[in-house]
Amino acid sequence: METSTVFLNAATTIGGGFRRHTTSATLLSRNPYLTTPFSFLPPNKQLQHQSRFNLPNTTTTTCGTNIAPAVGVNSPVSVPSDTVDINWDTIGFGLVHTDHMYTMKCSLGGSFSKGELVPFGNIELSPCAGVLNYGQGLFEGLKAYRTEDDNILLFRPEENAKRMMMGAERMCMPSPSVDQFIQAVKDTVLANERWHLVSCFRYPPPGKGSLYIRPLLIGSGSVLGLAPAPEYTFMIYVSPVGNYFKEGLSPINLIIETEMHRATPGGTGSVKTIGNYAAVLKAQGAAKAKGYSDVLYLDSVHKKYLEEVSSCNIFIVKGNSISTPDIKGTILPGITRKSIIDVARNEGFQVEEREVTVDELLDADEVFCTGTAVVVSPVGSITYLGKSVTYGSHGVGLVSQQLYSSLTRVQMGLVDDKMGWIVKLK
Ligand SMILES: *Cc1c(COP(=O)(O)O)cnc(C)c1O
Repeated sequence: METSTVFLNAATTIGGGFRRHTTSATLLSRNPYLTTPFSFLPPNKQLQHQSRFNLPNTTTTTCGTNIAPAVGVNSPVSVPSDTVDINWDTIGFGLVHTDHMYTMKCSLGGSFSKGELVPFGNIELSPCAGVLNYGQGLFEGLKAYRTEDDNILLFRPEENAKRMMMGAERMCMPSPSVDQFIQAVKDTVLANERWHLVSCFRYPPPGKGSLYIRPLLIGSGSVLGLAPAPEYTFMIYVSPVGNYFKEGLSPINLIIETEMHRATPGGTGSVKTIGNYAAVLKAQGAAKAKGYSDVLYLDSVHKKYLEEVSSCNIFIVKGNSISTPDIKGTILPGITRKSIIDVARNEGFQVEEREVTVDELLDADEVFCTGTAVVVSPVGSITYLGKSVTYGSHGVGLVSQQLYSSLTRVQMGLVDDKMGWIVKLK
């Protein structure tokens, strides 16, 4: 039950009637919620997201993920309000469907052009689509933050664009150019701006929530024999999300997986291809059933070096030194990882990208994970072969706290962007 359902706050007193309000029932019926694709919340946070409404027919999959059924998503979404009231304190990381999505097509050997914004809704695919049969698909993830002065900031979107291009190369797909990718992200964010925040009343306070942006690239053309699909579709949808952890940072508990692996040398671990994520559900589900937040993977050859968690990178802290596994083809090159390395170096830490052993992990002062969703997530405990090690008596380590704060301040536009990481939309 780590995932959240979301409700829209009908008690719209903020703004004093300036805005037109929509009842939550209307919004609810038009905006079905699916649960988060993201993977971890600490056990003590598992019940904090509560739905105010009973969503009918909620089913539980074998892997423990609650799926609220999609209702009417194939009809164009039009909520009769200029703004949308969202309870940013409880929204968590569930999916809220918004108004528009972006779509752009391309044939194999061609190049992408003429993308367009269309109402958010279901897409039509042949049962023979390459993505459905052979897993030709990639995704990306980034966030837009609203600032006090009503701008919207993207964090290093060109890095996501480049990573999608690298992934597309590996998966034999054409991809949008960096410029096309960034323009599409901008268009989609602006088209869904009313879902992002209500700016005139500074509500929610900048820093409380953000707009999560999910670009997808799939082999949409039909293919029977194993081969690259003849046609590709690039899409972007967005969802308002709260801060991953309600009270800011909150430690997670990880278990080291010793049987299953996320990636192998020569495989696709370093690209955000869709199949990598179905592949981790089994170990993740088992870990969650035992009360852990997520799984930490080891290298598949020696079973002794750290790789990463299902959807985030890992760092260990020992004294003034911070280490993280180096990128060697089996680890996803996280943009948060890369940014945290720079931030930590700027703040005087010695940062090493190298092989990190389980023994070092168990002996560390502090451990934390990084990823777009969580930014920095402190690790409270690691369990390995039945033994658990805790860090900072389950508290939030000082280094994790410091780096989280430094990076989120840049992302939210609260400090000067000395690194040139921010793209302003207005
Ligand atoms: C997306 C992802 C990360 C984090 O990457 P960011 O760019 O920081 O969001 C780490 N590991 C895996 C496996 C991922 O899919």
